[in-house]
Amino acid sequence: MDPQEILSLCKRRGFLWPAYDIYGSVAGLYDYGPLGTAMKNSIENYWRQLYVLGEGFIEINCPVVAPEPVFKASGHVDAFSDMYVECNSCGETYRADHLAADKHPNPASLNEEQLGKVLKEIGAKCLECGGELTSPKRFNLMFKTSIGAGRGKVAYLRPETAQGMFVNFSQMYRYGREKLPFGAVQVGRAFRNEISPRQGLLRLREFNMMEAELFVHPEDKTWPKFKDVKGEVLPLVPNSGDSRSMSLDDAVNEKIIRNEVLAYFVWLTFKFAVDIGMDPKRLRLRQHIKTEMAHYASDCWDLEAELGYGWTELVGVADRGSYDVQAHIDHSGADLTAFERFEEPKEIEQEVVKPNFGALGPLFRGEAKMVSEALAGLSTEKVKGKKEVTVDLDGKKFVVPASCYEVVRKIEKVSGRKLVPHVIEPSYGVDRMLYAVLDHSYVKKEDYVTLRLKPIVAPIKAGVFPLMPRDGLDTIALEIFDELTRSGITAYYDDSGSIGRRYARMDEVGTPCCITVDYDSKDDHSVTIRDRDSTSQIRVKKDHVLEAVKALMDGVGFESLAKMK
Ligand code: AMP
Repeated sequence: MDPQEILSLCKRRGFLWPAYDIYGSVAGLYDYGPLGTAMKNSIENYWRQLYVLGEGFIEINCPVVAPEPVFKASGHVDAFSDMYVECNSCGETYRADHLAADKHPNPASLNEEQLGKVLKEIGAKCLECGGELTSPKRFNLMFKTSIGAGRGKVAYLRPETAQGMFVNFSQMYRYGREKLPFGAVQVGRAFRNEISPRQGLLRLREFNMMEAELFVHPEDKTWPKFKDVKGEVLPLVPNSGDSRSMSLDDAVNEKIIRNEVLAYFVWLTFKFAVDIGMDPKRLRLRQHIKTEMAHYASDCWDLEAELGYGWTELVGVADRGSYDVQAHIDHSGADLTAFERFEEPKEIEQEVVKPNFGALGPLFRGEAKMVSEALAGLSTEKVKGKKEVTVDLDGKKFVVPASCYEVVRKIEKVSGRKLVPHVIEPSYGVDRMLYAVLDHSYVKKEDYVTLRLKPIVAPIKAGVFPLMPRDGLDTIALEIFDELTRSGITAYYDDSGSIGRRYARMDEVGTPCCITVDYDSKDDHSVTIRDRDSTSQIRVKKDHVLEAVKALMDGVGFESLAKMK
C-alpha cells in the first residue's frame, strides 16, 4: 500500500504526528498520537504475553543513557557506523550504500574506497540539486552526550536495549536461582542518529524496541518446546539462495537453521507477526549473508514484510554466541559466567594463577596476603601474556608485576565449571511492526478506507452510537459505553452526524465493531452490533453486549457470534 496514503491517514486520525511540527519537524522523529499510542501499547503488551508469560522470560528496565565503556566493550564505539556522502553544493547528506542500492548486490559490505568507486562509476549525484557528492565517510550512529557537569563522562544514548541485559547478566542469573537457560526482555527506546532518514516509521532516530536475550549453555542446541512446533512450515530464504517454505524440523535437520533454539524463536517471531495481523503471504524469513551480519552475530534471520516500501526487516533473530558477555567480562573484569555443576565431582587438569609469595611479600608487605588471594581468583585469560595485572581490593587498585605470579597446570577435583553463556536474541522494532500491521490491514474500495485491524491491536475496540442524541437513546448508549470502559475495553462514544459517517470514521481507524442504539432499543432492550469487515449486523440484548464484545476480542468471529445470540 502506498506509504503516503497510510501516513496521511495516520496524521489525520491521530496515530502519528511528525514531532516538533510547529518548528518545522525533524526527519526521523515522530510522536504517537492517541490511537498510535494505544496500538503500540497493545503490540507491546501482546509481545510481553508471549515472551514473559508464555516463555517465562523476566522483564527488566535499564537507563537509556550509558557511559562510554559499555559501548566500547560492545563494539558500538568502533563498529556501529554507516557511510554517508554530502552534496558539495547544497549540503544534503545521503546514506552512501543506499545510493548504490540498485547497482551493487550488497553495497553495505564495501569499504569507503570501494563504495566511492561504485558511486563514481554509476555517476551518483545529489538527488536534490544534482550537485557533486563528497567521497564516502564513516559516521558513528550513536548519539554522544556526557554525564555530569564540567568535563563529565562521555556517554551515549543506547542504540539497542540489549547491552543493559548483558551487563546485568550476573544479577539476573542470581535472581533466577543460577540456572541456564533463562531469558530476559526489555521494551523501550533506542536511539540511532540515522543518516537522512526518509522512510517514515521505518527509519527513525528515536525508536522503540522489544528485545529478548535468551542465555543458553554454549553446547545446548535443543529446546524443549521445539517438539510442539517442529511441523510448522515457514517461508525461508536461506543465504544459500535456495528459498522455499519448509518445516522447522526439515530446516534444522538440513542444517539450514543451525539449531532448535534458533528455529523455535524464528517460529515465535513469525507467529507474533501473524497474530497481530500481518498477512503471512507477505512475510518471509531471510538469513543474513556473511558480509551483512552485525559485528556481534554469528548467524541471523530477519523477519521481513512486503510493504509499500518493498521488503523490509522488522525483526532480527540473531545468534550472538558469547560475543557480548565475553566482551563485558574482558572490559569490566566482572565475572559474568554461569556455573555448571557436574553430576559427580571430576578430576580435571586446569590452568590456574599461582601467586609467588617470595616476590609479593617485599612488594606489598602487610597487604601481600590479600593481593595473593585476589591473584589466585583471577582467570588465566586475564594474566596470560601481560607484563602486569591490576587487582582491585575494595576500591584500592594494586598493579602486580608478572614476576609475582605464574600460570601453572594443576589437577583438581572440581564440582563444576564456569562458562560464558551463549545468547540468542530476537530483536523487534515496534514501530516497524506497527507500520507493517497498518500496511497489511489497509483496504481501500472506491475511496472507502477500512483498516482491518485485529481486535488485539485495534486502538478502539467498539464504537457506541445513539441513533439520535436525545429521547433517552443517548442514556442507553452511555450506559453501554460506561459498562465497556469499566471493563477495560476502549470504546468511542459518538452521537453526531449520520450513522454512515460514524461507521466510516470507525472503519478508517480499524474499530472492529460498532454498537447502535435505536428507537426499538427502548422497547426490546436490544441493540445492533455491526461487524467492520463484513458490515453485517446482529441484534443483541443490551445486557449481553459486554459479553459479545469480549467474545470478539477473544477472537470469536462475527459469524459465530451471530449463531451464539
Ligand atoms: P538491529 O539491531 O539493527 O537488528 O535492529 C533490530 C530491529 O530494530 C530492526 O529489525 C528494526 O525493526 C528496528 N530498527 C532498527 N533501526 C531502526 C530505525 N532506525 N528505525 C526504526 N526501527 C529500527
